[in-house]
Amino acid sequence: MSLCATLPQQGGRDEATLRALAERAGQELEDATAHEIVRWAAETFGERLCVTSSMQDTVLAHLASSVVPGITVVFLDTGYHFPETLGTADAASATLPIKLVTVRPRQTVAEQDATLGPDLFRRNPDLCCQLRKVAPLERALAPYDAWATGIRREESPARANTPVVSWDARRRKVKIAPLARWTQADVDAYIAEHGLLVNPLLYDGYPSIGCWPCTRRVEDGEDARAGRWPGLAKTECGIHT
Ligand code: SF4
Repeated sequence: MSLCATLPQQGGRDEATLRALAERAGQELEDATAHEIVRWAAETFGERLCVTSSMQDTVLAHLASSVVPGITVVFLDTGYHFPETLGTADAASATLPIKLVTVRPRQTVAEQDATLGPDLFRRNPDLCCQLRKVAPLERALAPYDAWATGIRREESPARANTPVVSWDARRRKVKIAPLARWTQADVDAYIAEHGLLVNPLLYDGYPSIGCWPCTRRVEDGEDARAGRWPGLAKTECGIHT
């Protein structure tokens, strides 16, 4: 079966209805558990819901697939991932009841180097992120009405006000953050309780894991995302802004 045949087709609820759903749920589900939020999303959107994962850990993929076995998990393979991240994606696909959909940029790193010059991440990281993260994700999300992400308020000041459900105006979809209120202790407890796979770099000084050229280890006491785009004012790739 082709990938297209397994994806939901276009033509779900209209934009005004989706926006109203998001705004109401954002208020009503603020105090709900992550399971309750995922269950609401699954009941509301059915196959027009997907989950995204950076493969830093498998918490959201595990939690969502415990509510909806076989749920689609979208993984962005930027071409610049650490081998440990790709290994975590493979292991998640092999061990969890998920349908992993790996999404890649239109150009390989070699093709991008040939057309835009080498190491675009040094010269124009915003464009690099746009080409290798933001645009591929938008293509991947096109068939869906709602998408879930594992971002948490505690991760950085920029994420401190993340709603559990919101209207993603740029993509015209409902954005769901079931773990928004979770602390790192909540994440650690869930991983331990379920014996989950995690990216081994998490235990090697990388509390936030992105592309290898733009991620460094953090020092004790630093923000979890302090190691992302070191030396630059950039703190987000553009997916959540
Ligand atoms: S994180 Fe760095 S390497 Fe990855 S897409 Fe963004 S700029 Fe490029």
